[in-house]
Amino acid sequence: MNDATWGTIREELLKTVGKNNYANWIEPLEFSEIENGVATFLVPTQFMGNWVSRNFGDKILNEIQSAGNKVSRVAFSVPPMPKSGKPKPAKPAPRVKSKLPDLDDMPGAPLDKRFTFDAFVVGKPNELAHAAARRVGEGGPVTFNPLFLYGGVGLGKTHLMHAIAWELQKSDPGLRIVFLSAEQFMYRFVQALRDKDMIAFKQLFRSVDVLMIDDVQFIAGKDATQEEFFHTFNALVDQNKQIIVSSDRAPTEIDGIEDRIVSRLQSGLVVDLHPTNYELRLGILQQKVEQHAEKFPNLVIADGVLEFLAHRISTNVRVLEGAMMRLFAFGALVGREVTLELAQDCLADIIRSTDRKITVEEIQRKVSDHYNIRLSDLIGPKRVRTFARPRQVAMYLSKTLTSRSLPEIGRRFGGRDHTTVMHGVRRIEELKQKDSQIADDLELLRRSLEG
Ligand code: ADP
Ligand code: MG
Repeated sequence: MNDATWGTIREELLKTVGKNNYANWIEPLEFSEIENGVATFLVPTQFMGNWVSRNFGDKILNEIQSAGNKVSRVAFSVPPMPKSGKPKPAKPAPRVKSKLPDLDDMPGAPLDKRFTFDAFVVGKPNELAHAAARRVGEGGPVTFNPLFLYGGVGLGKTHLMHAIAWELQKSDPGLRIVFLSAEQFMYRFVQALRDKDMIAFKQLFRSVDVLMIDDVQFIAGKDATQEEFFHTFNALVDQNKQIIVSSDRAPTEIDGIEDRIVSRLQSGLVVDLHPTNYELRLGILQQKVEQHAEKFPNLVIADGVLEFLAHRISTNVRVLEGAMMRLFAFGALVGREVTLELAQDCLADIIRSTDRKITVEEIQRKVSDHYNIRLSDLIGPKRVRTFARPRQVAMYLSKTLTSRSLPEIGRRFGGRDHTTVMHGVRRIEELKQKDSQIADDLELLRRSLEG
């Protein structure tokens, strides 16, 4: 058997073992010799040799025999260190190029072209997060690991992570950067468990140069996923690989995450994105206007419109952007100048809902009405399910629809501790995913409170 026949045999194996297995286990094998009926292959590590032998040994032997070779056994050995010079370069493989999992096979979400540092407007509220992201984007020796970015919805966490990835990729296109949400990580993990493919999963995640996990709060309460995340995390930190994590809250505020993971998450640099202020919002609007100038070439925006938007839409940048796009599209469509009146008309729903201040007391009244229980029972100390669940719903709505802090909400619920509120909020967040009744209740209550 020569290298060419081994090439053909490999192609057969590619068909039977699948692309991933092929790339991970077959492709790195280097055919050495056949002697006394034993076909020997060189492998980079003993572990790998054992694994291949156990899982693919028979298949490889079969293929070699079908190709007409007199072979009764296959063996895998680690080559001795070369006495001098460089190690022998691996032979080029027929189809799959690299011995690491193919970049195209890497998990993760594609990067958004719009999310660059150039497109990110810096202001007081995000100054520090931006500076830290810039620093990590420069690459070079890892200074803080992980970089932990946190802040409310729509404040630019995902944008900054993508910007880092773009920047790193620009200076080193070969860098293996993986960006994915904690949810996707879990999905991958569960899939690997189901397919009994954990080795490949581990190998895949441990082979990245930069790992970015978005919305890590999602793994709270998911014990096995947490555990795996922890091991992946440690393995990469040990190899000095950069990790970047985002979350909607600080590590210590993520309920349902193990202490050792919290302390790991805090071991690098933790920075938060503060809610936007007027200046930042105005800056973002101005920049978006420039960005979209091509899309709406004939659009005329009256003085004061951007200021109006920046004043009145203070929830988050995503909503602000959405409002602006809607307004511009409308203006372009009807061919009218975008005036203050047009803005007020066109965005009435958004402006109204962000305008009105919902109070905890209002929420409590609505929720007790909805569940047909007394307000005193909703707030009182009784812990039976019929009161406890509506109470948690009310806590959840108070957290999401008002700007009250957990301790403030706790005080309004009969002087409860903030951890009780946090627990309630989390519980409802979980239930919302799997209990459609709760999800409907929440939607109904939210609409009636905002309407
Ligand atoms: P998060 O991940 O924190 O929920 P995103 O990163 O998805 O928020 O940002 C929401 C939207 O707002 C994106 O379209 C993003 O480009 C935009 N955005 C947020 N902050 C800024 C900023 N400082 N400058 C420009 N655009 C921003
Ligand atoms: Mg995000």
